[in-house]
Amino acid sequence: MSIMSKYEFWFVVGSQFLYGPEVVETINGRAAEMCEKMNASGNLPCKIVYKGMGVTSDGIAKLMKAANNDDACAGVITWCHTFSPSKMWIHGFNLLQKPYCHFATQYNRNIPNEEIDMDFMNLNQAAHGDREHGFIGARMRLPRKIVAGYWEDAPVQKELGDWMRSAVGYAFSQSLIVVRFGDNMRDVAVTEGDKVETEIKLGWQVDYWPVGHLVEVMDSVTDAEVDAKMAEYQARYDMATDNIEAVRYQALEEVAMRKILDREGAKAFINTFQDLYGMKQLPGLASQNMMADGYGYGGEGDWKVSAMTAIMKAMAEGMDDTGVAFMEDYTYDLEPGKEVSLGAHMLEVCPSVAAAKPRIEVHPLGIGDREDPARLVFEGKPGKGIVVSLIDMGGRLRMIIQDIECIKPIYEMPNLPVARVMWKAMPDLLTGLKCWITCGGAHHTVLSTAVTAQMMIDWAEMMQIECVHITKDTTVEGLKQELFLNDLAWKLK
Ligand code: MN
Repeated sequence: MSIMSKYEFWFVVGSQFLYGPEVVETINGRAAEMCEKMNASGNLPCKIVYKGMGVTSDGIAKLMKAANNDDACAGVITWCHTFSPSKMWIHGFNLLQKPYCHFATQYNRNIPNEEIDMDFMNLNQAAHGDREHGFIGARMRLPRKIVAGYWEDAPVQKELGDWMRSAVGYAFSQSLIVVRFGDNMRDVAVTEGDKVETEIKLGWQVDYWPVGHLVEVMDSVTDAEVDAKMAEYQARYDMATDNIEAVRYQALEEVAMRKILDREGAKAFINTFQDLYGMKQLPGLASQNMMADGYGYGGEGDWKVSAMTAIMKAMAEGMDDTGVAFMEDYTYDLEPGKEVSLGAHMLEVCPSVAAAKPRIEVHPLGIGDREDPARLVFEGKPGKGIVVSLIDMGGRLRMIIQDIECIKPIYEMPNLPVARVMWKAMPDLLTGLKCWITCGGAHHTVLSTAVTAQMMIDWAEMMQIECVHITKDTTVEGLKQELFLNDLAWKLK
């Protein structure tokens, strides 16, 4: 079952009893029609379901409680067809524990010049009702998305659809389990974090499993299971090595890791080259192929980036582009005015960002003291994207998003035996670098050409965590001021 198809969104329409039963009937009919047409548009990743009108405090509270208790409900969308006095929304909004979107729209696109009279005005009061509804959201400091525009317009539907993806990311995050095969790399600071805090704030259950247990499961994998995995590799990638035994070993590792993750209901995992006891190769191709199927991964024990990779993959499910990859800033090209960053990892970049069919190659790995691992080698595709890092500031989490533009790598780099992506950072590499370092952003990131910065900003608001966005307009001075104020604000929370 796909992730998106597991969820629906509840559409609740604000009104009041003042206008009589005929108006109620009209509104019910129109709301159902709007859901039907928006569902048929193909612009929403999940179904929107009309759940009735909000016209009394009790009724709204019941609806919100039902939304909280329904696992399929990933969020509530409200719209005020008429004026809906907002004191009656207070109790319900206090109870609501799901993402919330205020949809500022109206049934008719245009003002009907001939037809408009006071009856029409009474029935069609979105402009009026939206402001009362907006006030209570602001007064209650509700985390909320506001989408404004005509409900039949594709850009408006797409904005609503992107918010739905963020909300599905919220739901996915709440039940995410991360399997740690080993601990964080020794001495590294930025990959550390408070696992209790992330479970409280983000829902993640981050659990350790001994590498010895993985090796036990590897010992139980059959030749037939390895053969089936090899057939999948052959179908997906170009076999550019004669060392088939090395590739088979990756297949063996992948089958075993999947068995443990699937048994535990986990969608993300980590490992570290410092803890490969009983294993002949650091999983490379194995991790890459799992990422291609939606699992999150983080190198050197980085469970935060692994979880974020899984969440962003869930958010991107079914998009035209599904590029979401574990990434690491590796090295720069500092030609004045043309500065770019080269991202890669020792093995594990997800093929969802590949420009062409990846090749399976086997090369030595300088660290980890194991046999030469098989890995996928490819160039990243060009296009606009983001890199995302989640760090633990001590007492709170900070998410950092940077706008980037991926380019075709300017060098062939024939002796670099790993997947590579090259990008320009916003506003430019050097200013962007100063901004990233100022924020404390990690060397590990999730790079995506699919998930947008806005989707991650909305996700961070749902999660109630700090979010910093480095754009083409960001300056170091402005950013420092923002971080200074953030520090004060988050101390008060
Ligand atoms: Mn790394």
